[in-house]
Amino acid sequence: MTSYKIALLDGDGIGPEIMTEAVKVLELVGERNEINFELIHGSFGANAYFEQGHAFPEQTKALCDEADAILKGPIGLSHEESKKIPLDMQPERGALLPLRRRYNTFANFRPVFLPKGLAHFSPLKPSIIGAGIDFIIIRELVGGLYFGAKHTGVNEQGKRFVNESLEYDEEQIARIARVAFETSMKRKKVLHNIHKSNVLQSSVLWNEVLGEISQEFPEVEVRHILVDAAATYLCLNPGQFDVMVMENMFGDILSDQAGGILGSLGLMPSACIGPEKAYYEPSHGSAPDIAGQSIANPYSMIGSVAMMLEMSFSMEKEAKNCWHAMQSVFSQGYSTPDLSQPGAEVKMIDTQSFGDLVVSELAQLAC
Ligand code: NAD
Repeated sequence: MTSYKIALLDGDGIGPEIMTEAVKVLELVGERNEINFELIHGSFGANAYFEQGHAFPEQTKALCDEADAILKGPIGLSHEESKKIPLDMQPERGALLPLRRRYNTFANFRPVFLPKGLAHFSPLKPSIIGAGIDFIIIRELVGGLYFGAKHTGVNEQGKRFVNESLEYDEEQIARIARVAFETSMKRKKVLHNIHKSNVLQSSVLWNEVLGEISQEFPEVEVRHILVDAAATYLCLNPGQFDVMVMENMFGDILSDQAGGILGSLGLMPSACIGPEKAYYEPSHGSAPDIAGQSIANPYSMIGSVAMMLEMSFSMEKEAKNCWHAMQSVFSQGYSTPDLSQPGAEVKMIDTQSFGDLVVSELAQLAC
C-alpha cells in the first residue's frame, strides 16, 4: 500500500474549520485509492506562538522536513490582536516567510476560476465575465521586497526612517519565468508578463531575463502589461488572461484582487512549489472577522488538496474529481455565505455542510 506523510498546519482563525473539511476529502481519496495518507497535525502561526513561544516551533519544522507534502491553513491575527506578539514572531514574519525560505518554494500557482454558470457569485457584470473566468497567476514567492534587507532607524535629520530593498538576481527570475512558460505551454500559449519597468529597475531586469527565457519557448506569445494597468484589466476584461507571471508583491496584491472578481477569497487555493518540497495553502488569510462562526468557505482549502494530489502525488484524476465535486455542489444551487447576499435565491450552507456535500459528490465520482 502506498503511504504518504502529510503535515497539516491548521493555522489561525478559520484555519482549523476549513482544514477539517479538507481532511474529510483527503481521507476519502485515500480510502478509495488504497493510499495511506498519514496525516499529522503541527502547530504553526499565532496559536503556536501562544502555546509554544514560537510561531514555527522546532517540532513543526521536523514534521515538515519529514513530510511528503505540507497542507497549510491560513495564519495571522487581526490588526489589533497582532500587537500581542513581538514583531519578529508575528505569524508572517515568524512562520510564513521562514516556511517559504526553508523549502525555497519559489513558484506559487494561484488558479482563478469561475465557470459561466456561477457568474452570479462575481461582482462583475455577466457581460464582462462572458464565457467564464479561467486563468492562473504564477507568483514568485521567495524574492523581492518581502525577502530583501530591511533597516529602520533615525536619520541625520532626526527623522525615523525605513529602508527595504527589492532584490532579484537573474537566476531567480529565470526559474520563475521558465515555470510560467512551461505552464503556458500546457494551456493557451499566451503569457502575460506583469511588471513596472517604467519606474522600477528590478522590472527592467525582470523583463530582460524573461525575454531571454522566451527564446526557449517560441510558441508562447508574451504580452507585457504594467502592474497598475493589469489591476484595471482584471476588472474590465479578465477573459483576456490565461497565464500571468509576476514578482512577489505584485502577485500578493493582484491575486487578492483576482479573488475579489470571483466573488470571494474563499475561492482561491494555491500551491507553493520548491525544488524538493511543496506546500499547499489557501491564498487568503485567517479571516478573523468570521472565525468560529462556521461560515468560512472551505473551497480554497479543498482546492489546495486537489492541487496537492496533482502536483505532489501525480493523482490527476482524483484532483479533477475534487474540482468537479466542488463545482457540482455550487451548480446545484448551494452557496456559502461569502458568495451570496442575504435574500439571494440560493441554498445557503455552512462550512461543514459544504465539506459534507463535496465528500458525497466525490464518493459518487470515485465509484
Ligand atoms: P483575509 O484574507 O483573512 O480576509 C479578507 C476578507 O476575505 C475577510 O472579509 C474574510 O472574511 C474574507 N475571507 C477570506 N477567506 C475566506 C473564506 N475562506 N471564506 C469566506 N470568507 C473569506 O485578510 P485580512 O483580514 O487582511 O488578514 C487576516 C490575517 O491573515 C492577517 O493577520 C494577515 O496577515 C493574515 N494573512 C495570512 C496569509 C497566509 O497565511 N498565507 C495570507 C494573507 C493574510
